[in-house]
Amino acid sequence: MAKTMLGYIMIGPKIPLGINWAYYNEYFQWMLNHGTELKNIDNMNWWRAQKNERERNLPSHPNRSPRHIPARILNIREDLMLTQLNYLFGEHEWKEGRYSNDRHCRHCGVYMKEVSEYIRKIVTTVDDLFSFQDNDKEDFESALQQALDFYDDKYSELVKEKARLNLPEYGQRTMFGNKYGWCPVCWEDVIYPKLGWDDRLE
Ligand SMILES: [Zn+2]
Repeated sequence: MAKTMLGYIMIGPKIPLGINWAYYNEYFQWMLNHGTELKNIDNMNWWRAQKNERERNLPSHPNRSPRHIPARILNIREDLMLTQLNYLFGEHEWKEGRYSNDRHCRHCGVYMKEVSEYIRKIVTTVDDLFSFQDNDKEDFESALQQALDFYDDKYSELVKEKARLNLPEYGQRTMFGNKYGWCPVCWEDVIYPKLGWDDRLE
């Protein structure tokens, strides 16, 4: 590293007014110390390649495909993400109650239980109107539209918008759950893109 950390801060990222500089410095230092992992945060092939000898030589098992990544490695990746979330958004009890939807999204404020309830009602309604044996994809789309129309004025725009990634699709369902305190839409659009390596450091 040719430049000093302060140099990086001065010429590099725009730092919001009022930010604690010492804290930012620590964050950048942490990123530099974990540069390789952070640059590969989205690259699951890289994480898969981190298997140790024992993990590479595990006997084959019906529940373990060659694409399997051991929990040990996934936990390292997750701990990095959690540390970065702490740096970016403040300390938070990530692991405590992280599977509970009894909370509001930390970004948009939507109540997770309400989104979850809305999705459940859409799914139930679609199930009443559509069956895989008797209907095809077009019928599915029309059943989904009917369900959406039926609940349209019963939920706020915010709830409906934040449900969009978890609506049922033809032949596919996604579980709704908060991601470390954010709703899936805020996580996908706002929070997750901030994770990993910060290109402004190079
Ligand atoms: Zn949100």
